[in-house]
Amino acid sequence: MGRVALVTGGTRGIGAACSKALKDAGYNVAANYGGNDDAANAFKKETGIPVFKWDVGDFQACEQGVIAVENEVGPVEVLVNNAGISRDAMLQKMSHEQWSEVIRTDLDSVFNMTRQVINGMRERGFGRIVSISSINGQQGMLGLANYCSAKAGMIGFTRTVALEGARKGITANAIAPGYVATELLANVSEKVMEHIVGQIPVGRLGEAEEVARCVVFLAADESAWITGSTLTINGGQLMD
Ligand code: NDP
Repeated sequence: MGRVALVTGGTRGIGAACSKALKDAGYNVAANYGGNDDAANAFKKETGIPVFKWDVGDFQACEQGVIAVENEVGPVEVLVNNAGISRDAMLQKMSHEQWSEVIRTDLDSVFNMTRQVINGMRERGFGRIVSISSINGQQGMLGLANYCSAKAGMIGFTRTVALEGARKGITANAIAPGYVATELLANVSEKVMEHIVGQIPVGRLGEAEEVARCVVFLAADESAWITGSTLTINGGQLMD
């Protein structure tokens, strides 16, 4: 039996690619999602991966969700904190709601989820926590005060979990992708997208599967000595 991996936001975009790549690598995968039942059901039908609906911004829902996953699939050995949203606005126009929705979904979620699995990982002496941050957690970006704060916060969280888990066989790493072709970018105007692609030395957006390769690499048993790191994957846009 393969190890059990749970991917949040694992039914669309980068998360779906991670779920599929982990399954292909032999993991028993569970995919969480937030609200898009149609996409989740289509994903389940296509892949055979069980899907679990809960809001990662809600601590109690995460507690119940992880119990459901552990009952059906088994104790979570690999957690991929991938679920995330964006609500872009320049600070002078950003509402408190836009700020807190992103902090709650992109940053609180990482605590909410990791907290549910950390004790089991410590007891079993093995764990892999991979959190999908962003190039915009490594730099500032116009209109993204909420998103940049959440994604930078994930990196701080990761480093601390790495220290705390180091003697317990637990690694924690972040991945910082640049711009990847998914529905998250659907609201970005064509003009801004052209500008973004112009800033990528490789000359194109990333593919979700290219990020998923990094997740599989960091999740591996053999990656035990990689911890507290931020793996940059952005076509050369930011060299950090
Ligand atoms: P998508 O919008 O394509 O998919 C987001 C996924 O997260 C969906 O499965 C969605 O569920 C889930 N989700 C959103 N909110 C919640 C919630 N409250 N509870 C549970 N699940 C939720 O995004 P991407 O694949 O593009 O992004 C994935 C991650 O990668 C995000 O954290 C994002 O910030 C990060 N990232 C993305 C980049 C990009 O260019 N695309 C670049 C760098 C980082 P549902 O289907 O139900 O809506």
